[in-house]
Amino acid sequence: RRRDREFEQFRDRLKDADQFKVLDGAFDDATFAAIYKLVQDGYIGAFGGPISTGKEANVYEALDDEGGDVAVKIYRINASNFQQMREYLEGDPRFEGIRGDKKAVVLSWTQKEYSNLRRAAEAGVRVPEPIAVQRNVLVMELIGQEGDAAPTLADVDVENPETAFEVVREYMRRLYDAGLVHGDLSEYNLVVYDGELVVIDVGQAVTIHHNNHDEFLQRDCRNVANFFERQGADVDAEALYDYVIEN
Ligand code: ATP
Ligand code: MN
Repeated sequence: RRRDREFEQFRDRLKDADQFKVLDGAFDDATFAAIYKLVQDGYIGAFGGPISTGKEANVYEALDDEGGDVAVKIYRINASNFQQMREYLEGDPRFEGIRGDKKAVVLSWTQKEYSNLRRAAEAGVRVPEPIAVQRNVLVMELIGQEGDAAPTLADVDVENPETAFEVVREYMRRLYDAGLVHGDLSEYNLVVYDGELVVIDVGQAVTIHHNNHDEFLQRDCRNVANFFERQGADVDAEALYDYVIEN
């Protein structure tokens, strides 16, 4: 009872906060409940503004209860492309036998992004450190600074495209060695901070058990090679692919 009342007060307070007014439709009660739990557990102390509002998810800046910066990614249960999400979950032994409805798919997806971040970090790939996951809400390290999230590779002048390419190539190889293919790798899902390249948006990353993992890897190689070619680097998608899969 008391917790219900606390939750309702918390939800109403959030709904009144200026930075959430824009979101109305995106936040159902179950999402507020997940945020409430993360607040109670100390992972979120206060919300800042949105960094990005997309079709599948919104990303916000926030502070944890010790004042440290975090990023909070909130997936929409009514994601427009949940059919496609489902296809990316198929064949993944970690998500065998999950229900096929929207809610189950989006919750698994959020969990998958968290696990993929963990696995990528363990494989030596620079990603935002995963901090907590609750239902459709993921808390991770904020790349950049409060009020000034790091830009993507697409938004910066790449000073040394050859070197940057070699870093991305190494990340792709390490991911592959850890049994993962990013599946949406491009200049839009690499952020640049403090002289480092950071891989983000790993929710769709699949394990090498996925029937289409090779196709996804080839597409990632084309996207990455095309970008660095446009920056003037002498690179090629097939050579990149060979490098990634070579043991
Ligand atoms: P989109 O459809 O725009 O690609 P998405 O739903 O795929 O969005 P992400 O790519 O994970 O979500 O995040 C969207 C944007 O939010 C990123 O382009 C990046 O600018 C920012 N972002 C995401 N995670 C972080 C983070 N941990 N730190 C800083 N910025 C982040
Ligand atoms: Mn993205």
